[in-house]
Amino acid sequence: MKILVINAGSSSLKYQLINMETEQAIAKGTCERIGISGGKLTHKANGREYVIERDLPNHTEAISLVLKELVDPEAGVIASMEEIDAVGHRVVASGEAFTKTTLVDDAVMKTMDEIAELAPLHNPAAILGINACRAVMPGKKMALVFDTSFHATMPAYAHLYAIDYDDYKKYKVRKYGAHGTSHKFVAGAAAQYLGKKPEELKIVTCHLGNGSSISAVDGGRCIDTSMGFTPLAGVPMGTRSGDIDYAAAEFLFRKKGMTMAEGLTYLNKKCGMLGVSGNSSDFRDLTAAAERGDERSALALQMFEYACKKYIGAYMAALGGLDCIVFTAGVGENTPTVRAGILKNMQAFGICLDEEKNKQKNDGAIHDISAADSKVKILVIPTNEELVIARETAALL
Ligand code: ADP
Repeated sequence: MKILVINAGSSSLKYQLINMETEQAIAKGTCERIGISGGKLTHKANGREYVIERDLPNHTEAISLVLKELVDPEAGVIASMEEIDAVGHRVVASGEAFTKTTLVDDAVMKTMDEIAELAPLHNPAAILGINACRAVMPGKKMALVFDTSFHATMPAYAHLYAIDYDDYKKYKVRKYGAHGTSHKFVAGAAAQYLGKKPEELKIVTCHLGNGSSISAVDGGRCIDTSMGFTPLAGVPMGTRSGDIDYAAAEFLFRKKGMTMAEGLTYLNKKCGMLGVSGNSSDFRDLTAAAERGDERSALALQMFEYACKKYIGAYMAALGGLDCIVFTAGVGENTPTVRAGILKNMQAFGICLDEEKNKQKNDGAIHDISAADSKVKILVIPTNEELVIARETAALL
């Protein structure tokens, strides 16, 4: 079985064609600058990279070009589109409308239009991608895989904000979380690596990248997560503030003469690591600068590590114990100093890092970086969101 995974942004479209027998991508690539001049497709297959520079006026043109490449005699990996059994689409937000992977039909797309405002930066782009695929591959089975689905198991006391309950019911304002496919993948991979059933484990999964979120996973089910109604909440991130007192935000917006919309852009794009360091949002830049003695970069990293530590502690309490901590995504997989900073002084809770193992370079494999006497296993697991989307899509067929 072959599943085409599509992750559509407003001006970009990433894809992978995954062979489900091997669970390997046999082709992958990205369309960039859709809808603006200078369109480009980068296609990787058969051990090579193919670049096509051509204007891509809309998502339908982009997906048509992708399909052409997939069946191309040289760059292609399949003889015809018939070999694609189904398409799995990544969708950021589902609200309360969808709690699990869903097959696309007209009614589902109508609901998707209705909930688009929940993630105005992401969902409308996904809709463009889905509609383009439906136009180019009529009749092909397609699944929507939601980043929020894995968090749908959070109990009400964890996902509700303490606002007027009637307002929650009316406007569906609550915590939905994000990065669910990644949290799900690494929690499952951790259980497999440890030779346990997911039901036997209490895990804290730390997806630390440019955007970061931390989840508490009890017996394979998410019981809490750090992101909220939007990805702005939780730990400070590359450019996002993370948790902040709303009155402080309103005070700041007023002082800076910002509208609410401008203020939210500020909190999403100009704060976090970038805002504190005044240097960069990129953790590689920050760790290099901190090593050179740049105090504000060091402070930004300390704030990040401290916030992650507090979430781990909180989730340990929420879970009533802890068997395993998982680090994943760009920073979680590649930055030993940040992992060490987060787990510093947690020996009292049975969390002991092996400093040497922690220095292991990311080679794409799972690594156990816990000390021999650590009660809690500490794992680094490269995430694979595309594979989760493909698995979910295949399972639905
Ligand atoms: P997102 O998917 O949220 O854009 P990523 O998971 O790709 O983010 O993480 C990006 C972050 O990971 C950057 O801050 C980057 O500095 C950091 N990082 C550190 N080392 C590496 C590495 N070797 N490869 C990629 N990202 C890295």
